[in-house]
Amino acid sequence: MNMRKRLVLGNWKMNGSRQDSRDWAGAAARIATDHPLIDVGIMPATVHLQEAQQAKGNSPLWLGAQNLAAYDNGAYTGEVSAQMLLEFGVRAVLCGHSERRQLLGDNDSVVKAKLQRALAAGLIPVLCLGETLEQRESGATESVVLGQLDSALSQLQSKELERIVIAYEPVWAIGTGLTASPAQAQAVHALIRSAIAQRDAILASLIRILYGGSVKGSNAAELFAQADVDGGLIGGASLVPSEFAAICRAASQDG
Ligand code: PEP
Repeated sequence: MNMRKRLVLGNWKMNGSRQDSRDWAGAAARIATDHPLIDVGIMPATVHLQEAQQAKGNSPLWLGAQNLAAYDNGAYTGEVSAQMLLEFGVRAVLCGHSERRQLLGDNDSVVKAKLQRALAAGLIPVLCLGETLEQRESGATESVVLGQLDSALSQLQSKELERIVIAYEPVWAIGTGLTASPAQAQAVHALIRSAIAQRDAILASLIRILYGGSVKGSNAAELFAQADVDGGLIGGASLVPSEFAAICRAASQDG
């Protein structure tokens, strides 16, 4: 068994009403309380953070955000800064989710700027990496994932790197019902860990690398059983409390 505490994060994306967010957060708070051996978190829509913060109460549930501005407070109409997220008790924030990379203009330099803002504010950046189906089929998975990793982390010191969580999310598996096989996931997770080990071996042994892409209660255990898979970033299934609970149960089993 390794020393890394598993982490399961639910990314609710742009879903639900304020009442849904209260209900889902209340359920997730109970799940987090029931599974003290792992860390559990939710990432509601930014406008639902207050509901989620109230519903989570004093439970150990992490509150996360799906996005942040690449800038400090100022004249950036429509943006939400790291400082604003902190006021809601936000602890972690996604950087470089593939939906933002593909649809919303977050290229590598934007991802890097957001990650640095998150670190500067004391938030935990969850850096998302992953290849498209076309890139996988053309044999480019390694170069794409390592390129995204290097671009985001190249100028960071070890003390900053140790505060980061990485999520490997093959784009072809997000919201499609297709999941990477446990062996496919493990191969990319090991690649990421060994790239980090070239900079700092101890840090590489401690950093958490989550898998994301159509994780469900029925496939979570075999993914989490892989040596370098330290938990999951869960989209669709995190909107169904019974599924999210099943995934957290799987993560709670001994690795
Ligand atoms: C995600 O949104 O990060 C994700 C992995 O979604 P899904 O679990 O629905 O594939």
